[in-house]
Amino acid sequence: MRIGNAYDIHRLVEGRRLILGGVEIPYEKGLLGHSDADVLTHAIMDALLGALALGDIGKYFPPDDPAWEGANSIALLKQVMGLVGDRGWKIANIDSMVVAEQPKLKPHIATIQKRLSEAMELQPDQVSVKATTNEKLGPIGEKEAICSYAVALLMPI
Ligand code: MG
Repeated sequence: MRIGNAYDIHRLVEGRRLILGGVEIPYEKGLLGHSDADVLTHAIMDALLGALALGDIGKYFPPDDPAWEGANSIALLKQVMGLVGDRGWKIANIDSMVVAEQPKLKPHIATIQKRLSEAMELQPDQVSVKATTNEKLGPIGEKEAICSYAVALLMPI
């Protein structure tokens, strides 16, 4: 078995869509980034790469490369799944956490879990998605950013 973990954070700004796990969440702000800034999908990709010591997403999708401008992170996740499969590994399970003061994510968790599990061709119970607030502390608590953590466990195909 192989295990990987990851963290990502993006700034919340006006004039951007909020995409989490490939799902657009209605909110007055969105995450700033070169791609669609899907902080949850980014953390999951980095956990998968980390499990196989393949580097980080910046190595495969450099933020200064115009090819990835506005990129759909679910499409990037599928590319990472290709790397994992090519090396003879598959996902046992993923556990993830989104830390956001607002919006409330509880109504969207099941949709995000379904979207991510379909993108990775997994069962929903292999893809845990959790959410918490930061108890109004720090930049996340001040609604200036959203961050995500993820852990991925891989097993041989
Ligand atoms: Mg990111």
